[in-house]
Amino acid sequence: MRAKRPLTAIAVCLAAIAVCLAAIAVPSAGALAAEGEHKPHVHGESKMRLAVEGSTLEIELESPAHDIVGFEHMPKTAAQRDAVKRAVAALGNGEALFRLWPGAGCKLREAEVETPLAEAEEHEKHEEHKEGEHADEEVHSEFHAHYRFRCAEPGRLGAVEVMLFETFPKMEEIELGAVLPGGQRAKTLKPGSNRFDF
Ligand SMILES: [Zn+2]
Repeated sequence: MRAKRPLTAIAVCLAAIAVCLAAIAVPSAGALAAEGEHKPHVHGESKMRLAVEGSTLEIELESPAHDIVGFEHMPKTAAQRDAVKRAVAALGNGEALFRLWPGAGCKLREAEVETPLAEAEEHEKHEEHKEGEHADEEVHSEFHAHYRFRCAEPGRLGAVEVMLFETFPKMEEIELGAVLPGGQRAKTLKPGSNRFDF
């Protein structure tokens, strides 16, 4: 039985990271949310913004919760709450999700993940809704993530391989907009075309 303890410890640790990431996320993801508030998203379509300025590489991601966890309502079961926690932890792992050319020497300095689905427990605690009160409403929710990398040699940022499709198989495409020293560029990333060349 002792052999199982480390796994339990890892699970608790991941849950703690998830809560922590959700807590820091509010400012920048909030700004992104406000911008897209009145536009309904399309399931399967994520938006990604990438900006290089000096030695800083910033990435913002906005994804329908459908693409990340498969549902957009508040988690109702332990399994759904767990799925949200795991997704927040996975999204926080920016170095795994964005494979940058090693020659550029980029290190992840900050990762913030926010989703209204992670606030479910508190919501349930403080407000009691009648059964079925929201049953007829069409619910849409999103995950927002923000990453800041510091790169020792930003001029050597040859390409970034976006690994989100492998981690979240419901993602179909990502509309990428990039602001680079040489100007603005756009590309639609797909599972078979997940690389962006700087
Ligand atoms: Zn939706």
